[in-house]
Amino acid sequence: MYKAKRINIGVGWTNGYQPEIKKYYARIKATTNESYVKWIDIEHEPGQISFKRFDRSLKEMTRYGVKWQPFLICGPWYSVPYWYKESKKSHYFRCLEHDQDSGIQSIWNEKFKKTTVRFLKLFHDHYKDRENAIDSILLGVSGDYGEAIYPCIGNFDGLYHTHRGFWCNDSHAILDFRRHFKDKLKSIKALNARWGTSYSDFSRVKPFLKKNAPSRRAMVDMVYWYREAMLKHAEFWIQEARKLWKTKDIYLCMGGDGSAEEGQHYTAAAKLCAKYKVGIRDTNARDNFRFLNTYQCSTAVAANYYKTYCGFESSHGSTGKFIVARMFAFIISNAREFHEYSFLTKKDVVRNFCKFRKLMDISFRRKVDTAVFSSEAYVNWVHEHATAWDIKEFPWGLPKKPHRLFDRLRYHFDFDLVNDSLIRNGILANYKVLIIPGFTLIEDDIIEIVRRSAKAGRKVIAYGRNTLETVDEKSVSFDQAEEIVGLNKLLASLKQSGIRVKIKKDGIFEALDKSGRTLCYDENKDTIYWK
Ligand SMILES: [Zn+2]
Repeated sequence: MYKAKRINIGVGWTNGYQPEIKKYYARIKATTNESYVKWIDIEHEPGQISFKRFDRSLKEMTRYGVKWQPFLICGPWYSVPYWYKESKKSHYFRCLEHDQDSGIQSIWNEKFKKTTVRFLKLFHDHYKDRENAIDSILLGVSGDYGEAIYPCIGNFDGLYHTHRGFWCNDSHAILDFRRHFKDKLKSIKALNARWGTSYSDFSRVKPFLKKNAPSRRAMVDMVYWYREAMLKHAEFWIQEARKLWKTKDIYLCMGGDGSAEEGQHYTAAAKLCAKYKVGIRDTNARDNFRFLNTYQCSTAVAANYYKTYCGFESSHGSTGKFIVARMFAFIISNAREFHEYSFLTKKDVVRNFCKFRKLMDISFRRKVDTAVFSSEAYVNWVHEHATAWDIKEFPWGLPKKPHRLFDRLRYHFDFDLVNDSLIRNGILANYKVLIIPGFTLIEDDIIEIVRRSAKAGRKVIAYGRNTLETVDEKSVSFDQAEEIVGLNKLLASLKQSGIRVKIKKDGIFEALDKSGRTLCYDENKDTIYWK
């Protein structure tokens, strides 16, 4: 369902009324202002609740002509009052690497749920008479800042034990790990057969690091569990928030590149969110359009497929050049909300934003005929380590092979990245062609779905030197698949199937709307235009 698009600017509102901000908001036609509301901000001392500073800023926002998006955060280190941290109830994530506590509340701690529900209710009840001034709610459920993600690198005011790693070594996490595999596989015999292990019973089973993983199968399975645990935690938040705000837009905040350690799952989260008419805020924008197509646009593929909505945020802010790429990705993804920390002082960003601002309000229904497979098992196994947004020289994103492939292909044709969960949920029916990277890993049930799909007439291409393997280290070949190694051959084959391809890499990216019109973005000239 179409709902008006939102231009959401993140401003903390600590400096009081500033007339130039009002003008700037009017110029860029901002609709919304996001600001952080952490539990610590409203209850410094136990039971002493105060919303004064938020009341004041809400009044100012109304005067500025924008609505409020509170980012409600409860669980991360910087959101929890000192007196709770000092209490016996506090129960932190604990790392596998050093068996040491983080400063972030564990998502496995059932007791913290009550605290979270109370926080949400306090906020809701305080503002229930001013709901018209609130645009939407952003949920900050875990991680260093509030994203549905595990601790990664620490945040700007945090002094707690943190690093990229696996945060599933607290007592509740270990119990959940055992319970999960007992429910799934029923007997220790079945688990041992699957993992190549010899555990005597489930009480011996614990989460492990990759270097200690009994097998590839075991590691991939552990990461499935790790991601699912974060989704369960997100679902608890979503359910509670939906009970309070029955019709408002609610966004689950997500970020990061999807590595095993980070433990998020964008497309499964989209499916979960859709169940509650909740959307996803993806905070991953950076670099260029090809990057956006690989990350944020993929979140939108899932959001659109499951018929929910999403918002895009930049992890690094925008430049005059990058803002145009971001706008194009936003428009063709039909995302609902465009978020940016203020670019008031960046004249070239404001200028370029205003140039294409009108296009931000259209409803674009992107027609894509080609899907490229992005394997969850591959990421769980190969992409073990999280990368950090604040280490600029560190490569960010998927491992080199898929990252480079997706980046390169986007110069030549439009495609959606589809992963295991989207394929299990039937998304292949939307495409004429499926491309499977030759280097990837693939689960047995996905092989079956792809085989059926090929038999039913869909073109399947295994692209690149074929080293395809199952998670259990068996080689894979598809009877009905074309095996293609070179790019030119791939493009010729796609063309033959009626896919629009561009042989030469010219920096102009096209997206087809279902009405037949084509929207283009020229990354050399920084323009967006209808063809
Ligand atoms: Zn540690």
